[in-house]
Amino acid sequence: MPFRASVVTLYPDMFPGPLGHSLAGRALERGDWTLDTTHIRLFGEGRHRTVDDTPAGGSAGMVLRADVLSRAIDAASPPGDDRPRLLMSPRGEPLTQPLVRALSAEPGLVIVCGRFEGVDERVIEGRALREVSVGDYILSGGEAGALVLLDAVVRLLPGVMGNAQSGTCESFEDGLLEHPHYTRPPVWEGRAIPDVLTSGDHGAVDRWRRQEAERITRERRPDLMARLARDTDG
Ligand code: SAH
Repeated sequence: MPFRASVVTLYPDMFPGPLGHSLAGRALERGDWTLDTTHIRLFGEGRHRTVDDTPAGGSAGMVLRADVLSRAIDAASPPGDDRPRLLMSPRGEPLTQPLVRALSAEPGLVIVCGRFEGVDERVIEGRALREVSVGDYILSGGEAGALVLLDAVVRLLPGVMGNAQSGTCESFEDGLLEHPHYTRPPVWEGRAIPDVLTSGDHGAVDRWRRQEAERITRERRPDLMARLARDTDG
């Protein structure tokens, strides 16, 4: 069975969006994964299909109603669906490559996209939504986050990446940021490619890449370097 992504959203037209192009798009056409959307508006209340209301306790903004959102989620993911249900949320667990890899091993995902000030807390509890964040900043809605998450997950699905190797030697896969890349021309605006890369000595190339990866990680992301040191000690 292909990996099945279902997105619960007020903006179904945003999908597949960028995921309809390039690797993910071709994989979608081939049927390596499937994507469907559930339009929250269709489950709204009354003639105007209202989906939101003012926050209990007062304050600015609107909140997605528990009854409306749960109906949409239940339509996308009926009882017995064994896929994890995620909620895009700035309060969520940070999206990292290990989490992406774990999610890519699931039969699929149900991804709920918040809007306005967010969603009624009771739906998070009642539908066991796992909150996932794409970073410490606020988006206007969960859709852009869902596209980021799916992009990262889909490229790990079997058959999606042509070159299997390029899925494994990337930033983060070994806990380090990636070494620099070079290609033609050999000299560009007076800048040459480092000699070691054209030396033909594969051992030296590997050592240089490892050193550069460590240098760049130390300089830019001391937090990753510290985690790596902890993991290899323990
Ligand atoms: N009032 C909320 C922000 C709501 S933003 C707060 O301060 O926490 C509206 C919606 O955008 C959210 O419900 C969520 O689905 C999505 N969103 C915003 N920032 C996000 C992030 N960093 N990661 C994932 N989803 C995010």
